[in-house]
Order: sequence, then structure tokens, then C-alpha cells
Amino acid sequence: MSSDYILPPAMLGILGGGQLAAMFTLAAKKMGYGVTVVDPDADAPAGKLADVHLCANYTDHDALQTLAQCAAVTTEFENVSAASMTWLAQYTHVSPSGDCVAIAQDREKEKAWIHKAGLATVPYAMIYSAADLQADYSHMLPGILKTATLGYDGKGQITVHNQDELIAAFNQLQQVRCILEKKVDLHSEISVVVARLQTNQLVSFPVAENVHQNGILAYSLVPARLPADLLLQAQLMAKQLAEAMDYIGVMAVEFFVVGSEMRLAINEIAPRPHNSGHYTLDACLSDQFEQQVRILCGLPPAKPDLLKPCCMVNILGDIWPKEGEPDWSLILAHKACKLHLYGKKKVRKGRKMGHFTVLADDVDQAFSTAHEIGGQLN
Ligand code: ADP
Ligand code: MG
Repeated sequence: MSSDYILPPAMLGILGGGQLAAMFTLAAKKMGYGVTVVDPDADAPAGKLADVHLCANYTDHDALQTLAQCAAVTTEFENVSAASMTWLAQYTHVSPSGDCVAIAQDREKEKAWIHKAGLATVPYAMIYSAADLQADYSHMLPGILKTATLGYDGKGQITVHNQDELIAAFNQLQQVRCILEKKVDLHSEISVVVARLQTNQLVSFPVAENVHQNGILAYSLVPARLPADLLLQAQLMAKQLAEAMDYIGVMAVEFFVVGSEMRLAINEIAPRPHNSGHYTLDACLSDQFEQQVRILCGLPPAKPDLLKPCCMVNILGDIWPKEGEPDWSLILAHKACKLHLYGKKKVRKGRKMGHFTVLADDVDQAFSTAHEIGGQLN
């Protein structure tokens, strides 16, 4: 046994208090750790579950001083200040590193690292200023103009078909640094969550097949209904990228499966557990949040094996009636269906309020049951 392990009841810190931090907190508490959450929102879902909720900004000096006393610190999202992570690393154990967070929060750096690792992305061009728009981008059209930073759930992206639309879109995005991606013909989308402690200590969860609606993840199906060699290739690519970045922690890699020839291109990475990995909570031997705790504490990643085919469905604010709650009995009465609600007070269209996972003997059956329940909830 290694004496380098951080063991319960040590206090772990996390920047961010949303649903990902809430699920991290539950995993850590289950294992006997204490948790300190930093989030400026008094109603943050993880705030109520944690031992300590510091209601402060992610760069707040006092909050960071308190986190520095924790045995280890992680983050629940990439838009936290990477500089805060780097600062904390002087005093305590931090994963992922500030450098890795900085890569994941910037589409330009992210693409550069993917190529540096010898892996493919979709064709793209950087647009730094209005002057760049004088060049000919016809080979990138139709395309999607995305802000280089701070986009999520399809926000900060505009589809463009010609040069005029491109100029209008750049103006609409306030002329911030942008990336123009060629809009590729998607056969499907998949993702891989890996947990890496160091070389030779990496495990990969089974590949999820993801269905997006309006730029937001709607369903994840596992096992993905694609050829086994393609799925293996995606897992190897995720591993190759994690190794190239010397990434320590849990990382999600989103892939496009392009065209009928099914070429893999990496879309983006998340330096944390991912929505498309929520199925692991109910369908695997270990889940992505347990892995986050384990890697943070210097423990080897747990076995990630899939126990049962499944379909995870996101529950968005869109399904809330004018008054009251959706009829949760539609999910809860089902014997092989797991409901997770995040306890968010404010309901908004497109806001992730919870998810449910249907377990079944095969993935098609899980999908059709999920679809049926989803249809009744709507
Ligand atoms: P976010 O950070 O909001 O998740 P993504 O870059 O992953 O942004 O884009 C969200 C979704 O939009 C993708 O999952 C995919 O369905 C679609 N999309 C994004 N970029 C492209 C592209 N270059 N070609 C085709 N579809 C795309
Ligand atoms: Mg995405």
C-alpha cells in the first residue's frame, strides 16, 4: 500500500457547486471524505451536500486560502480560473492541473493539443479579428463559428453558409476570438471518459453513443451501436491524448463519427466527469465521480466495466409545467429506471435539472423504454 494515498476522512475541495460537484460530493462522502465546495450561488446543488459551502467567487482570496488547507482540490468545470488551480497547486494536491484546465477551456489550445498528439479534428480556421474575415473561407462552408472560450451546451455558436453570414455571426459574437469549423456530415457522436493517475494507470469507461438535440445532449446509449474496432480506436485516441497532455484526473473526450466512412475526429475535451458519463452511476462497476475522488486522492482507478446496457436521458427545464413538478412517478414506478434530480431551484428552458437512466437487457430496448418515458414526461 502506498503511503501517498489521501485517505478518509481527509477534506477534499472542489471549485464549482453544480450537479457535477454534487455527484462528486456524494461519491466522496460515501467513501468517508469531507468536502468543501466553493460556489458564489447560495443555492448551488453541491452546497447543501458538502460539509462546507464557501459562498464566494472562484478567485476569492479567502476561499482559495481555505481550499489550500484541503488535502486535495479539484474542479467541476473548465471555466473556473485555471490560474486558481495553478495557485492552489503550490499548497496542496491539485488535479487536473491548471495547465490542463487552460487547454480544455480554449478551443484553439485544445485543437492544437489534439494535433500535437497526432490525432484528428474537423478542419478549422481561427478568426482573431474582423480583418481576418477578408480571407476566403469557402472551403470551410457551411461552417459553425464558435467562440474560442466560454461556450457550452451549444451556446456561443452560429451556423454560417456564406461569407456574409460569417461576418454577421462574428459581429453577433461581439468579435471575440473565434474558431470557424467546417460543418461535417455526422454519422453519429460518441464520447469516452478516462481516468488517469499516471502512465500505466489509465482506465477507460465504455464508449457512449450520444444524441444531441439543439446542441444539448439528449441521450447517451451504452454500448454504442457502432463497430467494435471503431469503439476501441476511440478509447485508444482518448488514451493517447491524455498521455500527450500528461493529464491526471478524469477527462471526457467527445468525438464526431464523420461520414459514411465513419472517420473519427475529436470534437472537444472536458477536464472533468461529463454528462455523457452519467450512465456510469447506475450501469458500471465504478462511476466517473468515484474515479474523480480516487485519482484526486492518488488511488488507482477502479474497474470501469459495464454491468448492464443502458440509456441515459437528460431532464431539461423545458418539461416543467406552469405550476408544480413533472410527474416523476412515470420514472419512479419503473423498476429498472434510476432518477437523479439535481435540486436546482430555478427552472429554465434548456437547463439541466436532472437525468434518468434506463437499464435493460440490450441497448435498443433501453432506448425504446427511455423514449417512451421521455415522451410521457413531455
Ligand atoms: P459545446 O461546448 O456546446 O458542447 P460542441 O462544440 O460540442 O459545443 O458542439 C455542440 C454540438 O453541435 C455537437 O455535439 C454537434 O452535435 C454539433 N456540432 C458542433 N460542431 C460541429 C461541426 N463542426 N460539424 C457538425 N456538427 C457540429
Ligand atoms: Mg460538446
